[in-house]
Amino acid sequence: GKRLIEHASVPKLTEAATGPITPVIPDYQTMEEYRAEGGYDVLAQVLAGDITADQATETMSNAGLRGLGGAGFPAGRKWGFVRSYAGPRFMTINGDEGEPGTFKDRWWLEQAPHRMIEGAQISARVVGCERIYIYMRDEYPAVLEILKTEIAVLEASDIEMIPMELRRGAGAYICGEESAMIESIEGKRGLPRHRPPYIAEVGLFGRPTLNHNVETLSWIADILKNGPAWFKDQGWSEDHNGPRAFSVSGRVKNPGVKVAPAGIPLIRLIEDYCGGMADGHELKAFFPGGASGGIFPAHMADRPMDFGTWEPEGGLIGSHAVVILSQHDSVRDATLNTMRFFKHESCGQCTPCRSGTDKMVRMLEAREADRALYDDLLEVMGDSSICGLGQAAGNCVKHLMTHFPEEFENGETTQ
Ligand code: SF4
Repeated sequence: GKRLIEHASVPKLTEAATGPITPVIPDYQTMEEYRAEGGYDVLAQVLAGDITADQATETMSNAGLRGLGGAGFPAGRKWGFVRSYAGPRFMTINGDEGEPGTFKDRWWLEQAPHRMIEGAQISARVVGCERIYIYMRDEYPAVLEILKTEIAVLEASDIEMIPMELRRGAGAYICGEESAMIESIEGKRGLPRHRPPYIAEVGLFGRPTLNHNVETLSWIADILKNGPAWFKDQGWSEDHNGPRAFSVSGRVKNPGVKVAPAGIPLIRLIEDYCGGMADGHELKAFFPGGASGGIFPAHMADRPMDFGTWEPEGGLIGSHAVVILSQHDSVRDATLNTMRFFKHESCGQCTPCRSGTDKMVRMLEAREADRALYDDLLEVMGDSSICGLGQAAGNCVKHLMTHFPEEFENGETTQ
């Protein structure tokens, strides 16, 4: 009884902390402005059969568009897979942008929401999905408001559309993991599912499901309008396809979202897009892909920023959340902070992740420097966690040991 009473007396966090949230709506491109620039023309071509499903899928494959939520799975192949399973099918849009350091999806939606909406309508049409569920994080109140308004505008227009539903996340990082997101949309606790089966075959409400990230969808109409070469050739070199948005934060002069060629070396991203390092700061280390992607030393800043570069080094570029550290920052502190984040966000479903992240935090806090102990724990977490959170949580610890041995061994920390 006492526990229940205590629980019931806790006010809602957002209202207790800040009062009801009244979002400031940025000046974004409206439906009318988007259509004046040729917006929804590609969808009309798809609806009229002027662009067939096979043609659209082939164009996407030739353009080399990859999933920009973090996994980098080729969009054309994903369309092919989901189409190959019998309907009814659903589509989900993952707008639960929770990776620390990532803010590009918000940037896309706060300036041009119809790019994503048209991309979603085209994809759902090509793949044959009956309904589209947008899962948007509640921490983006302006985006939620914009989407609510603009979906209603689309519904009231003359455009034939597949029904879209907006669902709000509730602040759990793990709900950005696609199968946990699906559980959450179904009204359950957001726990990642075992795979196989993959969601392309058994997804939302047990049906084949096409899941895309906000930014991936935002490129689709442009690619179908301008052709695959237009997109592909905007990569840094032949092996890297297309432009994409990097969220850059930390010790640079001009942080923010930078649309740059895939595969650009970090050093060029900093110099050409961010105005260089902030005054008094020299590049010491960087996270290429948020908390999950690991942390690398400055001498690796000449490598291409793309999928495939960091995996052999035990890292990931993920959602392209680039965090820049300088000589004034402790990599050990950053690692401990990252591990605390994973401990907090672990869904607790499996022991290697639930206990492993907790134990790792305590080892770092205790300035433990026995490598064998860390290696043992890292191996168990990497090999036997159910989902990417537990599998990737140890990346930055591995890199602290490999690339910053003095900080690891001397145990210096300010926390
Ligand atoms: Fe949950 Fe972590 Fe296991 Fe993923 S790895 S299912 S977050 S406990």
